[in-house]
Parts: sequence; structure tokens; C-alpha cells
Amino acid sequence: MPNKSMENKSLSCPVCQSKKAEMVGKNVKLSGQYEDKEFLTTGLTVLKCVMCGYYMFFDDTAEFTPEKSF
Ligand SMILES: [Zn+2]
Repeated sequence: MPNKSMENKSLSCPVCQSKKAEMVGKNVKLSGQYEDKEFLTTGLTVLKCVMCGYYMFFDDTAEFTPEKSF
């Protein structure tokens, strides 16, 4: 059974490495433009780091994993 519970996933802010983040929104869709193409994202989960205010976006359908290479 897929586990979508955020509490069970480890995450850390890519900016300050804080492990505390608050949920800002769920199923948020962003639209924008990239190289003359308009896009609309699928529903995203938005978290905000409580320490530095950095916003993190996660695809609901993807594993809840912050970028680790930064
Ligand atoms: Zn942070």
C-alpha cells in the first residue's frame, strides 16, 4: 500500500537543512511559461520551511523526496 503520509517521510530544507516544514497547500496547480510554452502543473503539495520560509513543491504522485543534490 502506497504511503502518502508526509509525516513518515524525511525531508530537510535545501536552504537551511531544517526538518520542520508546514503544509501551505495541497493540490496546488501552478501555471507559467517556459520557452514560449505555457504549462500547467499537476496538483502539487506545497510546504514551507518554518525556519527560513523556503517554499518546497512536491508532486503528489511522486515520492515525497526533497532534492538531495543541493
Ligand atoms: Zn529552511
